[in-house]
Amino acid sequence: MLATMVWLAGRYEASQVQTRLERDTADAVSDIRVALNRNLQSLQALHAGDPGQLAWDIEASELLRKNRELVRIEWREPNMRLRTHAQSPYRPVAWDARLRESNQSDSAIACANARRLSSPSYSSSYFQPHGDGLGSEMMELCLPLTAGGRNTGFLVVTYSLQDVLINLVAHNLTRSQEASFTEPDGTRLAVLGAARRGSRMFTAQHLLDLPGSTLVLRMDTWHAAPSVFPNVLTALVTTMSIALVTVMAVLVRDNRRRLRAERDLADALAFRKAMEDSLVTGLRARDLEGRITYVNPAFCAMVGFGAQELLGQSVSAPYWPPELVDEYRQRQQIRLAGQHVPPREGFESVFMRKDGTRFPVLIIEAPLINAQGQHTGWMSAFLDISEQRRVEELSRASQERLQATARLATVGEMASLLSHELNQPLAAISSYATGSINLLQPSAPDAAPDAEQLQDVRMAMQQIARQAERAGKVIKSVHDFVRRRDQAREAVHAQQLLDAILPLVILQARKLGVRVHTTVEPGLPPTLCDRTMVEQVLLNLARNAMQAMDDPAIPTRVLDIRVRRTASSPHSGWVEFAVTDIGTGIAPEVAEKLFTPFFTTRPEGMGLGLSMCRTVIEQHGGFLGFAPHEPRGTVFTFTLPLIQPSSSSQA
Ligand code: ADP
Repeated sequence: MLATMVWLAGRYEASQVQTRLERDTADAVSDIRVALNRNLQSLQALHAGDPGQLAWDIEASELLRKNRELVRIEWREPNMRLRTHAQSPYRPVAWDARLRESNQSDSAIACANARRLSSPSYSSSYFQPHGDGLGSEMMELCLPLTAGGRNTGFLVVTYSLQDVLINLVAHNLTRSQEASFTEPDGTRLAVLGAARRGSRMFTAQHLLDLPGSTLVLRMDTWHAAPSVFPNVLTALVTTMSIALVTVMAVLVRDNRRRLRAERDLADALAFRKAMEDSLVTGLRARDLEGRITYVNPAFCAMVGFGAQELLGQSVSAPYWPPELVDEYRQRQQIRLAGQHVPPREGFESVFMRKDGTRFPVLIIEAPLINAQGQHTGWMSAFLDISEQRRVEELSRASQERLQATARLATVGEMASLLSHELNQPLAAISSYATGSINLLQPSAPDAAPDAEQLQDVRMAMQQIARQAERAGKVIKSVHDFVRRRDQAREAVHAQQLLDAILPLVILQARKLGVRVHTTVEPGLPPTLCDRTMVEQVLLNLARNAMQAMDDPAIPTRVLDIRVRRTASSPHSGWVEFAVTDIGTGIAPEVAEKLFTPFFTTRPEGMGLGLSMCRTVIEQHGGFLGFAPHEPRGTVFTFTLPLIQPSSSSQA
């Protein structure tokens, strides 16, 4: 439509130009006609009152001077003979008088016409050469002169067509216009002005029909600005079109961009939704007033309430256990006041399902910051840790069972040592008892035992009591070890730990012929540890060390247990236990698997000892390691945290 409009505007403008040109042409023709008529009147006035020849000459010359389009005026006799003539001072033309008076000349034809019609008549145009080699197109006007109804002669007037154009048309012509007289077949007779040649040419033709002759006035114009914007209307429409097209292009592009953005947004939303729905972590958002603004499906599933039941809740959430509501409300107030930033690693809490069951959750909270960087609320992530708790409990229980088993296994291994150890006091008791019975045997049927005998018996009884006590001690040391004690950590001095295991260590050492050395750095603060477990660790390491020395090739067997602060600094908070043997050492392939459960090189071993030792020490935050001992053997070391003097008073 716009293109059509531009085209139409162009067309309209062209037609405007054409119309204007047509009008100009018509005006020019009527101008010429009016001027010719006026000239005709002036010419007729020349003969008013029957002038004499002299007066005529003066008048005619005057007329020629005033009307430059006239070239020559002749007064002829009725037989066409030249009586007198006047010549235009502006245009010297070499007239051939003979030719002019021939009855074939244009003037003769015009006069024949004039006589017949008894009115002025024009001839057709003809080419009249000038004396200077040039020439121009001329036209004759013949005016019959009458007096009392009788022909008294003719007035023959010669017009120069070129001068007609110059004098009668030129003043209305614009610079871009060209006016010309043409013959009906298009041959140009006289031209005025010079229109440029080009594509945007306009032409208008108009007939100038004079009595006896017909001329065509043709006007050509070249339109001033044949550019893209021929006129204001077209320019306006074009500009508007361009603006419109531009706006449309921008709109289309913008629309496309918006569509893409919308699609991206929808994708992102769908992605977010899928992510939220697939999460097992519960999510909940609260605004700054504490109202719940968002919950994800995982959160609803966790607490058993629907999203509609939760959204907008602010005072106390339905999943808060009633007994803890006060505490939680306080916590929420602190959070909303913004004084306390929640820990990044989260905190634990207890929630209630819709059916009333309580379950532990891990809550991780973070501030909600909107796109403008304003804090608009809090986002919390919830992890239901009841399953985790159950697994932890299970693993703790199985760990405990494993440790108990390991302990019992130790005891089992010691059973033979025990029986050997108990044999001695029992044998002594038995022999003392036999001796006592013998002493109490009366030598005579009613003889009372004498004082000396009684003294011996008392001594034997005391021995029995001592041996029984010794056996009891052995059994108690085993019992103490095996008995399950509380798991709680307590402050224990290294010496206490050693004292607890030494009876058992010595039991085995005696059998294997090992000397046991213990050294404890004086003034050590107590360590905070699970006593039973650390004793077990020490006992295991000592036993492993002694077993490593159970080799006939080692004549002097020494087990060395040292306790000191770790070397790094004299005030460091760690104590190091080092159990050193001069046994066989540990081969590299054994070293690789040393801490793997059930790895053992001994036929009767269980392979649980070292793996358990490591677990226990790591539970205390310490480190268990080993290194070869020079010149031979191995040293196992482990560390435990010391209670610093400042805090030991509390412990
Ligand atoms: P077990 O004592 O039941 O064999 P452990 O886990 O205590 O199980 O020990 C695993 C293995 O590590 C032992 O069989 C032994 O080969 C090796 N080992 C442990 N301590 C020493 C040591 N001090 N010297 C040499 N080898 C050792």
